[in-house]
Amino acid sequence: MSETEKPLNFLEQIIKNDLESGKVAKVITRFPPEPNGFLHIGHAKSICLNFGLAESFGGECNLRFDDTNPAKEELAYVEAIKKDVEWLGFRWAGEVRYASSYFDTFYEWAQHLIKAGKAYVCDLNPEQAREYRGSLTEPGKPSPTRERSVEENLDLFERMKNGEFDEGSKSLRAKIDMASGNINMRDPVLYRIRKQAHHQTGDKWNIYPSYDFAHGQEDAIEGISHSICTLEFADHKPLYDWFIENLPVPSKPTQYEFGRLNLNYTVTSKRKLKQLVDENIVDGWDDPRMPTIAGYRRRGYTPASLRKFCDMIGVTRSDSLVDVAMLEHAIRDDLDKNAPRAMCVLKPLKVVLTNYPEDKTEALSIAGSPNRDDLADRSLPFGREVFIDAEDFREEANKKFKRLVIGKRTRLRGAYVIEADEAIKNEAGEIIEVRARVIDDTVGKDPADGVKPKGVIQWVAAHEHAEFEVRLYDRLFNVEAPGAGGKDFLDDINPDNLSVVNKALGEVALKNAEVGQGYQFERIGYFCRDSKAETLVFNQTIGLRDSFNKAG
Ligand code: ATP
Ligand code: MG
Repeated sequence: MSETEKPLNFLEQIIKNDLESGKVAKVITRFPPEPNGFLHIGHAKSICLNFGLAESFGGECNLRFDDTNPAKEELAYVEAIKKDVEWLGFRWAGEVRYASSYFDTFYEWAQHLIKAGKAYVCDLNPEQAREYRGSLTEPGKPSPTRERSVEENLDLFERMKNGEFDEGSKSLRAKIDMASGNINMRDPVLYRIRKQAHHQTGDKWNIYPSYDFAHGQEDAIEGISHSICTLEFADHKPLYDWFIENLPVPSKPTQYEFGRLNLNYTVTSKRKLKQLVDENIVDGWDDPRMPTIAGYRRRGYTPASLRKFCDMIGVTRSDSLVDVAMLEHAIRDDLDKNAPRAMCVLKPLKVVLTNYPEDKTEALSIAGSPNRDDLADRSLPFGREVFIDAEDFREEANKKFKRLVIGKRTRLRGAYVIEADEAIKNEAGEIIEVRARVIDDTVGKDPADGVKPKGVIQWVAAHEHAEFEVRLYDRLFNVEAPGAGGKDFLDDINPDNLSVVNKALGEVALKNAEVGQGYQFERIGYFCRDSKAETLVFNQTIGLRDSFNKAG
């Protein structure tokens, strides 16, 4: 998938060495989302990385839901995540996996630690536990119940499981080192009491394992060779390794950390994205303004463009802040090469071609796209009345305005050169119609009299066209780092992030536009049909102008 000439990134280098030295026989990675929201662009990086590494080294990648916290998780998120991974073009090995399907094993492994004197039931509530944990500068204090007997711990743990105690009243903790310089090693929690039904296991459990107790063990059960996570887990690695060393696990995975993707003008935190959804600031997780994979899909981004972007940003050991213009460049580049062209008029202004016969129509023909020979030509109906964009007409203008002006000529794209004679106005003085003339024999030719047209403008025939709504998007946030400096990130929302054109006109073929097919509306931008609206609606994917200069 990645370009072969590129130097190996640090993870590819590690994997290559592991395969060559025989440390690892087969590369097995996993993408481990928690189903507590939709996936965002940061997850796309992790997906491309995990699936991409497996693909490049002849291995496999699992899709595993890290579903250890039923309070925030939902089946709808599970389904959305599967769809997003598939849409990006990746196939997971075998069935989808769930951390929750290993809960019986985790329970036994917790008992194993208790029996080895390495775990105990703690009676501190969460607040007390925090006090006892100490800080970066002070060691922690041992829990008063740290020295319970194995028998008592086994009994209490089983009763926790059976639902005999209230949430927060007890927890199971590993017995490691309350004075460790790494706070993660100060007797971390293995199990909490949560009297919550779970989307996979129903009412079976009253206790749920912590992320730390679950994650590495899930990897070990699945025989993951390289467990790749983001940098914030680097401090958890000693604990990851401690569990692997102290449990009867079937394999010994290794954790590697890479830098998260952060994008300017964008939030990549499920918690914040959920807030945008819950407070109806956007219309659901797949709103085209959302930096979710589902949002990008609905907006008209292609899987190839997102994969290309992930390839461009690369993988490093430090967090990165990427210019969102680079993502926009990736989709613009893809659509420029691949999207069929179409004409669209956002602000229709009628032009009557007074010298064109009233009962005549003809079919003109224009290339499907200048960049694709495989596309069939488009047939454009033409007649005495056409619509142009109101922005493309002025009664008077200086030389810089290369569009239609009274007494001057312009070319209707793929059709005739026309010359404007008169603007018709309503009582309010607004222009409601333009009278113009067709210059004879100018389809694909310059006028015979040598008076050349200024510019080329798009148009649609009055007698045959598609009519639709257009949603023009701008960035959701108008500052580079929404919420920076302790501000509420919602204060940085761009108030002009959406403008709706209720009645735009376009080429007749757009009536049958397929969802997922991007178009270049000539001179306007890239658009795709909305997947949810019941009427014909086009979402703007991205404008035509590229502000990303750094691309090679
Ligand atoms: P968030 O912080 O948005 O809630 P998360 O890390 O809690 O995300 P998970 O569902 O746990 O979400 O993430 C699944 C995988 O995606 C993890 O391996 C995580 O490290 C990775 N991931 C999440 N966000 C990013 C990001 N911004 N860049 C790269 N990888 C990410
Ligand atoms: Mg997480």
